[in-house]
Amino acid sequence: MFENLTDKLERSFQILKGEGRITEINVAESLKEIRRALIDADVNYKVAKNFTDEVKTKALGQDVLKSVKPGQMMTKIVRDELAALMGGTMTDITLEGNPAVILIAGLQGSGKTTFSGKLANLIKSKKGRQVLLVAGDVYRPAAIEQLKILGQQIGVEVYTEEGNQNPVQIAENAIKYARTNHLNTVIVDTAGRLAVDEQMMQEITAIKAAVKPGETLFVVDSMTGQDAVNTAKEFNDRLDFDGVVLTKLDGDTRGGAAISIRAVVNKPLKFISSGEKMDALQVFHPERMADRILGMGDIVSLVEKAQEQYDEEEARRLKKKLVKNQFDFNDFLTQISQIKKMGNLKDLAGMIPGVGKMLKNVEINDDVFKQTEAIIHSMTPAERADPSIINGSRRQRIATGSGTTMQDVNRLLKQFEDTRKVMKSVAGGMPKMPKGFNPR
Ligand code: GDP
Repeated sequence: MFENLTDKLERSFQILKGEGRITEINVAESLKEIRRALIDADVNYKVAKNFTDEVKTKALGQDVLKSVKPGQMMTKIVRDELAALMGGTMTDITLEGNPAVILIAGLQGSGKTTFSGKLANLIKSKKGRQVLLVAGDVYRPAAIEQLKILGQQIGVEVYTEEGNQNPVQIAENAIKYARTNHLNTVIVDTAGRLAVDEQMMQEITAIKAAVKPGETLFVVDSMTGQDAVNTAKEFNDRLDFDGVVLTKLDGDTRGGAAISIRAVVNKPLKFISSGEKMDALQVFHPERMADRILGMGDIVSLVEKAQEQYDEEEARRLKKKLVKNQFDFNDFLTQISQIKKMGNLKDLAGMIPGVGKMLKNVEINDDVFKQTEAIIHSMTPAERADPSIINGSRRQRIATGSGTTMQDVNRLLKQFEDTRKVMKSVAGGMPKMPKGFNPR
């Protein structure tokens, strides 16, 4: 989402290439480019101006370090200032009280209901809490239904009161229900409108006053650009929320809201959502985001994601199979689903330093696994467990069954055999070289 900004910022640092040190004159051009890049990314004009003023002060105040080139120095200053602009360090949500109550507010279509589901999922799985979702959007039966479906998907109970048109009452009843049923976290989804209006504001402030949430989160669609920031301001003036959630960062957004919202509203950005799947939610870390914006990648988040999915027992089981050359197509399928669980492939690639930029114009999506999965699913259990029995007629049957061609099946089988060989040698240590073998 920040590809263009990353490119432009890099170019602005290039201006200083060849300069011996940072001076008022040579830094001016670079700063102008930085400001332009930020505004193009939909960062609020005032925020962009204050930002470059700050960067200028820092840059000119730097001691001249012989070992650091001006371009590098500028990159570092911009990185630190970007992180500071976005809030400095991560701000966690408050889960105090029994039950802890989290109120979700925002315009209709911003992604509130989807986010409520994702947050419930995250709190349940990462913090091991018992969560109750509350359907407070009494005007749209579809929203209640949507929340119920999400709840089912993630195994979280959803509190509804069909026919009751009073969201304050529903929220209060839900909290009582949570108490009697030993559920320690309540997430209240509320109704939005297409634009800010008085009735909606009155309703949400009334709910807030009644249930006294420890955490009120404002959800906003990042694709609405500067409007996202303005809406946040209007909501905050009335609601005094605790944090912002930016959604749809996987869409066609320039990302400016992520950079300016903190400075304009003076409330931290706490979560970013980038997809419709229930696990497409990330806790917002300003420093990591600054690194990503500058194309430095975000190795920390990548490692964390990998660790979340890493199943030690499964890894041990796999290693044994690899050494014995028993790795089969069932294991292959498991591996694919592990990778898919880590999330959107392009997002993942973007976390590796340098790679995001390289893949800027390359289309990668989760469909890359579709054909492979279709072919494996068309195999019989016996074939999956022992691919060596897959002869010509079986290959033809598998191709027909998976809607692919014989060549596709052959390719996968060949790839699988090659992978198996490589993995065996890696897992079991390097194979012994035959006597007399001389690599030179
Ligand atoms: P609400 O009206 O605020 O409750 O919004 P919904 O949760 O119903 O979301 C509106 C639409 O946006 C739905 O089609 C969601 O699937 C979609 N949506 C929500 N969050 C995201 C996201 O992070 N990325 C994408 N691409 N779509 C999202």
